[in-house]
Formats: sequence, C-alpha cells, structure tokens
Amino acid sequence: MHTSALKLIDSNLPEKWQEILSDLITDPKELLQFLELDETKLALGSDALGQFSLKVPRPFAKRIRKGDWNDPLLRQVWPDLLEETSGPKDSPDPLSERSFNPIQGLLHKYHGRALLTAASYCAVHCRYCFRRHFNYENNSPSREEWGIVLKYLAEDTSIEEAIFSGGDPLALSDRQLAWLIDQVSEISHISTLRIHTRLPIVIPQRVTSKLIRILTESRLKSVMVVHCNHAQELDEQTKAGLSTLAANGIIMLNQSVVLSKVNDKPQILIELSRALFSCDVLPYYLHLPDRVSGTTHFQVTKRYALEILGEVQRQLPGYLVPTLVQEEAGESSKTRLV
Ligand code: SF4
Repeated sequence: MHTSALKLIDSNLPEKWQEILSDLITDPKELLQFLELDETKLALGSDALGQFSLKVPRPFAKRIRKGDWNDPLLRQVWPDLLEETSGPKDSPDPLSERSFNPIQGLLHKYHGRALLTAASYCAVHCRYCFRRHFNYENNSPSREEWGIVLKYLAEDTSIEEAIFSGGDPLALSDRQLAWLIDQVSEISHISTLRIHTRLPIVIPQRVTSKLIRILTESRLKSVMVVHCNHAQELDEQTKAGLSTLAANGIIMLNQSVVLSKVNDKPQILIELSRALFSCDVLPYYLHLPDRVSGTTHFQVTKRYALEILGEVQRQLPGYLVPTLVQEEAGESSKTRLV
C-alpha cells in the first residue's frame, strides 16, 4: 500500500518542489496581473513590504479566485496598507519568544518539548504571522552551532519531543532535513518528532517519496502539523499529498488561525474541518491571532471567536472541532478558551 501511494504521488509531479520554491511570486505587480486585478486600486503597504516581503508560491496563487480582492487566500498573503497601522497592544514579539531563546536555533518554552528553528525562511509569507518580526538572522545555526543545540537537548532528559518549526522546516533540502532528524534521533530520551509546516499546503509537490522515506525510516514517531485556514486552500493535489502522508503512518493534524474576513464564519470553519477530514487530517488548534505589530486588521475578539466555535460545535462531531487557543507571553502552555 505504501509503495503504490508513493508512486502515485511522484508520477503526478509536473515540477519539482525545489524549482517552485526558487520561483515564488515576489513582485506585487506580477501577482495582480496573474490575478487579473486592477493595479490602480492598489493599496499596497510599501513600508510593510520592506519589513516582510511578498512571497506567494505559484501553486497557491492558482487557488486564488481571479479578479476578487476579497478572496480569502489573497487576503492572507497581500500586504495591505492597514499593516502600517498598529494597535496599542500590538508588539513585534507578542509572545516574548526572545526570553525563551537560550541559544541560537532553540526555543524552550514548554515542559517536555523544545522547538528548533530548523529553517529560517518560508515558502509563503502569511501577513498575520506571529514570527514576522522574528530575528532569523540570529537563529540560523551552522552545523557546528547545531551541535550546541543538540547538546542542550541531550542534557535535558525531560525533553521527549523535538518540534521542527521555523520558518518552515520543509523548506530545508532533504539532505539537511535528514541530517537534523538523524542527529535528534540519536538522543535516546526524545521519542517524537513534530514538524510544523505550511509547505504541503502551499506547494503540495513537497510531498515526495523521499520525504516520506526520511520520516518513516527514523525511529522517532512523526507528527506533522500543517497550517491551513480555508477549504479553498485544499485542491486535489494538496489533498492527495496529505492523504499519502497519513497513509504512511504520519499523524496528520492541522492548526488554523481565526482571521477577520478570511475564515471568521462558522460555515467556513465547518467546511475546512470536513475538507481536512476527507484527506485524513484532524483539526487540532484554532488560534486567536497574536497581537503582532501590523496585523490589527486580522484581529477577531475572543468573544466572537467563542461564538463561532459554539456554532461549529453544534454542527460537527467533537473530533472535527478544533480547540480554540490563545498564546500568552509567560504562560507554561497555550490557554484553551473552550
Ligand atoms: S508559513 Fe508559518 S511561519 Fe511562515 S509566514 Fe506563514 S505562518 Fe509564518
């Protein structure tokens, strides 16, 4: 079963993921032309672009409706003029991650697990990203510096789970990814590898037989948490990739962020949960957006998010209802709101 699933994925690949990753749409005008949008209505946040550039993979751009400024996928990637307006509670580092960053490449916030900033870049720039101001320059370890991170993990026997995050860890080459997984798997008290990634959503070609081999041949139990906010992000190829990962024994979960004018309606979240389930991914967390500078226009109040989720709960079985959470600086875990 595994072999045929892998063949299916690879034989369907029109392009290699590396080529797609090196040919992202980064010019706002190109994106507007591709989407047949009127450039004269351009409300571009040029300051925002300087801080956090435009990055849209072409397979994701193809899922954006042409000619529609209100498309929920476009809203996630378009640098709106509103990014230049910050609210009084907004901060470049709302979760105080800097205080949990003891050494380059490592965030150690919660008991039992530690997060490695395995890659310093992403395939897509989500405008609401809580790490849009993160100092990746200081968190891009060389092989030697990874040695220090690995020593830290080896010396703290309470750490059972290594979380690869970033940036996007699947933006690493297979060789780099396999090397890091091998190193972590040599630490006997670590039993689980969790990968936080948006790549299988935005560039489904990233799901290859080689990637699956790397994950399944490790002694570590693999959990993949993808990030998808709207059912429109899940086209047939994306669903096939996610199903194939699940069919190969990788535990597949999704986390979303509830975002104003993207997915802040019960029906949208219900459709998302159903679409994820159809490709063997379970909804995990629904985050309230973090108060990151430049993201005020995405904010949804806690009260409204609870109302939306209440309706989702009424219509779906419990296993399709994500847990609404909020991250708060200094807390020892995420705060569950329901
Ligand atoms: S993929 Fe994740 S880390 Fe990268 S910009 Fe989007 S939300 Fe941020």
